[in-house]
Amino acid sequence: MSKFIFVTGGVTSSLGKGIISASLAKLLQARGLKVTIQKFDPYINVDPGTLNPYEHGECYVTEDGAETDLDLGHYERFLNIFTTQANNVTTGKIYQTVINKEREGAYLGKTVQVVPHITDEIKRRMKLLGNDGYDIVITEIGGTVGDIESLPFIEAVRQLQWELPEEDCLVVHLTLVPYLKAAKELKTKPTQHSVKMMSENGVHPDIIVCRTERPLSPEIRRKIALFCNVKQEAVIEAADAPTIYEVPLAMMREKLDVICLKKMNITRYHEPELAIWKEFLDKLKYPKSKVTVGLIGKYIELQDAYKSILESFVHAGAINECKVEVVNIHSEFITEDNVDEKMGNLDALLVAPGFGHRGIDGKIIAVRYAREKGLPFFGICLGMQMSVIEFARDVVGLRNAHSTEMNPETPDPVIDLMEDQKNITDKGGTMRLGSYKCEILPGSLANRIYGTTVISERHRHRWEFNNNYMNDFENHGMIASGKNPASNLVEIVEIPSHPFFIGVQYHPELKSTVENPHPIFVHFVKAAKEYSEQKLSVKNPLLQSEMI
Ligand code: GLN
Repeated sequence: MSKFIFVTGGVTSSLGKGIISASLAKLLQARGLKVTIQKFDPYINVDPGTLNPYEHGECYVTEDGAETDLDLGHYERFLNIFTTQANNVTTGKIYQTVINKEREGAYLGKTVQVVPHITDEIKRRMKLLGNDGYDIVITEIGGTVGDIESLPFIEAVRQLQWELPEEDCLVVHLTLVPYLKAAKELKTKPTQHSVKMMSENGVHPDIIVCRTERPLSPEIRRKIALFCNVKQEAVIEAADAPTIYEVPLAMMREKLDVICLKKMNITRYHEPELAIWKEFLDKLKYPKSKVTVGLIGKYIELQDAYKSILESFVHAGAINECKVEVVNIHSEFITEDNVDEKMGNLDALLVAPGFGHRGIDGKIIAVRYAREKGLPFFGICLGMQMSVIEFARDVVGLRNAHSTEMNPETPDPVIDLMEDQKNITDKGGTMRLGSYKCEILPGSLANRIYGTTVISERHRHRWEFNNNYMNDFENHGMIASGKNPASNLVEIVEIPSHPFFIGVQYHPELKSTVENPHPIFVHFVKAAKEYSEQKLSVKNPLLQSEMI
């Protein structure tokens, strides 16, 4: 039987519920328990796949092809496990299931209502992963307590708290304890109010985690404990941390895991095994070198849009003992005239994934710069497609080559809609999604990076390399070094005469974790380091002669 921990949030959004949930899960996992995390989101979209990154940040894709909330990325990066379709549920999914059942006549003439039908479906989904042999299932409830749309989820938690044996269900409430500069004081009232609001809905939190910019004094802890009706030891301080990867250790110091284990009466556990995690943190904190990587995208003001890419650089930087400074460069503002100035200080260039026309000219100019200057280049999905278009135009000589996504009338559609996408009209969940196998050409850069010839990576796209142009490309020096064995779709392109030029149709950033940094990112950072060392030695001839 699994035990269930629910994590709710109060006072404001953006308190980092995902990180706290993932940190707790990490600690429990490090103590030898089998743990998974799921996220329940109160919005009506069936999944975040149709949401603009401006609204919701990156859309994270699982192995089995679910388009999910970016918090699932944190869960995978922290726990080094795969999540699935079942790990992200939205109000839209719940209603869709209930309405479909109603249409089938499954409710036998009953009036279908929020309580019990919607709440029953929420509860069923909350317990679903409990069938998979986990000791603990952590459920993060999106949104903030008090939101109208959160109510059915809170009601479902209330019912489960009532139904399940007391020690099998735990509620952790994350709240804000703000510091008022003028009063020079931490304030507990917002926390009191949000706990009160939960109590009005019948849910009583067992543990209060307080986000705060200042340490909680024993007096403040006592006050929160008293007014929120929890033991003082169950008031946890979650201070701002320099990196999200410090949070599990901070939670360990606060004994969040021990309190959970005690309350759930779990006795079979050992001291946390966090050696790899701590080694990673040490390398992250004390880098021996530094590189500057340009991230060319169009959602630059919004860091959440490229969350997994940024985290992959953190993992790859640590293993290389190198600080990776990522410079965001807005593709809409890159022109032939300013490209030298914008790219001049970079040690490597990554062109980001994306959709639609906006900003692609700048991406193409950036690719050309990297190709011509021998600057390490890494293109992901749309970034790979842009590298193909650039090569077609400038090297193969197909001046008007394009993707039919941006120009359906192009005479040379080097990137074209996949055959099985041609009759699709629905937008939600209809791309080529999830994990696909890829065979790698022996002796290629990809082969050296992965150290194998068969890999599988996750996808999210509709367009692809047009194989009719393959010969033209290969004759001019761009090769397809990775292909899907079943469909022959091109998954990796590279330019063997370039020091490091790779474009991938899939999303490697989705599989990078603390314990398994993604090999392309690891080698890309290494290439950036080499480029930067070379640059230095050219600038400093003394260094150069010493090196010789
Ligand atoms: N828009 C491109 C396609 O659908 C690339 C998608 C992406 O970068 N994820 O093929």
